[in-house]
Amino acid sequence: MLGCGGFIGSHLLDRMLGDGRFRVDGWDPEDGKIQAHLGNPRFRLHRRPANAPETRAELEQAVRSADAVINLAAICNPSEYNTRPLSVIHANLFDVYPVILLCAEHGRWLVNLSTSEVYGRTIAGYLPGGGYDDPDLYELREDETPLVLGPVRNQRWTYACAKQMVERLIYAHHMEDGLPFTIIRPLNFFGPRMDYIPSRDGDGVPRVLACFMAALLAGEPMRLVDGGRARRTIVSIHEAVDAICRILERPQAAQGEIFNIGNRDNEVTIAELADRMRKTYARITGDARYNDHPIVETSAEDFYGAGYEDCDRRMPDLTKAERLLGWSPKVPLDDILLETMTHFHEAHAAGRPAAAGP
Ligand code: NAD
Ligand code: UDP
Repeated sequence: MLGCGGFIGSHLLDRMLGDGRFRVDGWDPEDGKIQAHLGNPRFRLHRRPANAPETRAELEQAVRSADAVINLAAICNPSEYNTRPLSVIHANLFDVYPVILLCAEHGRWLVNLSTSEVYGRTIAGYLPGGGYDDPDLYELREDETPLVLGPVRNQRWTYACAKQMVERLIYAHHMEDGLPFTIIRPLNFFGPRMDYIPSRDGDGVPRVLACFMAALLAGEPMRLVDGGRARRTIVSIHEAVDAICRILERPQAAQGEIFNIGNRDNEVTIAELADRMRKTYARITGDARYNDHPIVETSAEDFYGAGYEDCDRRMPDLTKAERLLGWSPKVPLDDILLETMTHFHEAHAAGRPAAAGP
């Protein structure tokens, strides 16, 4: 498991090591989120990047003896796509290619965590009058929807493009060398341990969940980029991990396939998400002033810098996951937020300022 120390990796380890049937060799230079597993005899952590030359021999040995190689290693934080574009391209493309080659050479099953960003923007998003009344123009279907990325000057697309190229390399090796593969396209997994709270346990600008949580904890306004019009569908990390485990348990059904993993029922605009989060936080703290926690608008340029462009909408077609994996997510957004925000609150709330209500 490459990138086992991150958000998804930490939850996948919880499930796989808790199950008792799996033995995991993991690579990640970070281990803060997986401390609970470090003494587990069924888990061996290599505390380094999977592409580090000094680990090449042990990685090759592990790949050769593995039933599956799960790749989660990435830089996947939108604030870095246009500000550290070369690092993003290297981490998500060039650092991954040696792993693809190893799996192809040894005929090992590569389960690759890609992203819904490979779809880019929807067709509807480019039409002057919209087109969101026609699912053909916005729904994301794994094997049909065109992959539409913005112009090169908008470096936001470095991540999407690198991830798309990895998908294409995997597919080409499948066709030419018989590489067994499964590609997973996650759509906004939310849960405890996602990212970090800036200046508490990390630095920089995390993804939206931690940005809004950090604002609530600090008594600062939640910031809506470009009015918070973009829409996202949000799925529980626990249900997402269940989907990954179903894939691992069903090689016959899952190999050679690309799966969207998301929750169609949990679609919100980012403005709605901010409102739901402040209301959830009022519930968690018992402090009604959070219901009116300040929300301000900001431009994408001010928030992310030049070269940012947003994905307008991500509505996954999930029929394949349901048909081949028997998986369909059920946890509603409010439950996901309550669990996740309670976790952040318990980890960080000591010493926080009072709610910044009107
Ligand atoms: P994360 O940032 O929490 O975890 C990524 C982990 O990879 C980090 O712990 C990092 O230290 C590690 N890493 C980076 N380079 C590495 C390398 N060379 N070798 C070993 N480890 C390395 O991200 P996450 O949310 O857990 O995402 C995991 C995967 O899922 C990524 O591929 C990401 O692109 C994809 N994804 C996640 C989401 C989501 O909703 N969380 C959405 C779309 C795509
Ligand atoms: N966003 C926002 N305020 C923030 C952080 C993010 O309005 O403090 C917006 C961002 O512009 C995007 C959405 O929230 O429209 C989701 O951003 P995230 O970083 O979670 O990643 P994405 O879903 O785009 O991959």
